[in-house]
Amino acid sequence: MTAPAFDNIRIVLVNTTHPGNIGGAARAMKNMGLKRLYLVAPKDFPAEKAVWRAAGALDVLENAVVVETLEEAIQDCGLVIGTSARGRRIPWPLVDPRACGERTWHEAQQHQVALLFGREDRGLTNDELHKCQYHVHIPSNPEYSSLNLAAAVQVLSYEIRMAHLAQEQGTLLPPEPWDMPPAQSQALERYYQHLEETLHTLGFLTPANPRQTMTRLRRLYNRIRPDEMELSILRGMLTAIQNYIYYTSKRLEKAVPQAGENNNSLDTEL
Ligand code: SAH
Repeated sequence: MTAPAFDNIRIVLVNTTHPGNIGGAARAMKNMGLKRLYLVAPKDFPAEKAVWRAAGALDVLENAVVVETLEEAIQDCGLVIGTSARGRRIPWPLVDPRACGERTWHEAQQHQVALLFGREDRGLTNDELHKCQYHVHIPSNPEYSSLNLAAAVQVLSYEIRMAHLAQEQGTLLPPEPWDMPPAQSQALERYYQHLEETLHTLGFLTPANPRQTMTRLRRLYNRIRPDEMELSILRGMLTAIQNYIYYTSKRLEKAVPQAGENNNSLDTEL
């Protein structure tokens, strides 16, 4: 019997070019007990080469969920971890493959977890990486750091299996208890949109440089990882701010005559 947490872990391949890598990833997953494969806009799928490389993991391939956008692939996930073959301009909370395996395994007992893998030629975009709570880098030769996509899936799937075995043997440290589930990806995205709109209305975000500020705010929230209750409080606060701005501006409109509005008392005095 396989542990149910395996069902809560999905491997997400973004925009894969070579179908052989999709097959290779399916095989790597099944060897380690994983089965949920998501393909975001693959270039060439279904394909013979994928079947050939999957060998005995055809079931993983056949059950792969193909979606158009990354958002669809991760919307119900409480933890999203993005892989990166190189350092990025804005550093993000980083875990090594072992910690990634342990965290993924722990959290998959409670909620959905996604591991994101990027394109063969240029990895994940910054926008995609900014949807992640953590980044993971497989330590490799700095002069040749980029692994084959399916090989990277193999390494991280192996670490998940190691965490599972450690738990069975009682050597995995228990996770920190928490009373609420973490906010899911879709709820976080809606929050960021709400936050951006509100900051625009307040004039805090200037059109000159809105993206950097939002990136840093995303990093802040990803570091804190608000739970469902905390996120709903934050959204309620934004709604209160927007309502305040709206009703205050309505009151001002009433108090100050608008251009072109007839004001008789003023006319007669003049
Ligand atoms: N040239 C690309 C590398 C793409 S390799 C770049 O510079 O980003 C294809 C994918 O394999 C990556 O997006 C990542 O998902 C995975 N991968 C390759 N090497 C990795 C490494 N050292 N650590 C983590 N993931 C890696």
